[in-house]
Amino acid sequence: MNIILLGPPGAGKGTQAEKLVKQFEIPHISTGDMFRAAIKQGSELGLKAKAVMDAGQLVPDELTIAIVRERLAEPDCERGFLLDGFPRTVPQADALEQILAGLNLSLDAVINIEVPDDVLMPRMTGRRICKQCGATYHTRFNPPKQADTCDQCGGALYQRSDDSEETVNNRLAVYAQQTEPLVAYYLHRGSLKTINGNQSLQRVFADICGGLNGKKADYC
Ligand SMILES: [Zn+2]
Repeated sequence: MNIILLGPPGAGKGTQAEKLVKQFEIPHISTGDMFRAAIKQGSELGLKAKAVMDAGQLVPDELTIAIVRERLAEPDCERGFLLDGFPRTVPQADALEQILAGLNLSLDAVINIEVPDDVLMPRMTGRRICKQCGATYHTRFNPPKQADTCDQCGGALYQRSDDSEETVNNRLAVYAQQTEPLVAYYLHRGSLKTINGNQSLQRVFADICGGLNGKKADYC
């Protein structure tokens, strides 16, 4: 099963990815993990990526694409793979098509988890973390018994700068501009499965499995 997972930040991709890789026994390939692995292995591409990242710059497309190509050629991808965070742009999607053609592979499905911005916003900005023990809470979905205080250790809770309204707005805008065009891209190619992400985790997973079942029977 060769799958791409799409969805805005806060759509719950991480959780669904975990369930999917267990279900299909395929590797979860996220760009962050891929860079870390390449750097750890000390491969030529890894060293290049490290130099760029150490300089505080964004890894250029051609380097990301080369690392993806190397990763997809590894033996554990024979059973399939779940790509998460790549492709992020239409040029990357074009590059992925070429990579897959070169490896004699094709995509089975592109899962697009859809969640409206006005649902994502409170989801993402409500997260609070304990300064002392790192326990996580959510002001709406998992509130501490006493506001801004950790249930476990009494430590003060704080909001990460990543979860601030300004940062979240910015991330959603970048997604809409760079990545959302991929929805039309894959719709056009017939591989898109759009899933309503505004429901329970179990329900979302069941719908994803239902979408994949259209392709092959007896999964999930
Ligand atoms: Zn605590």
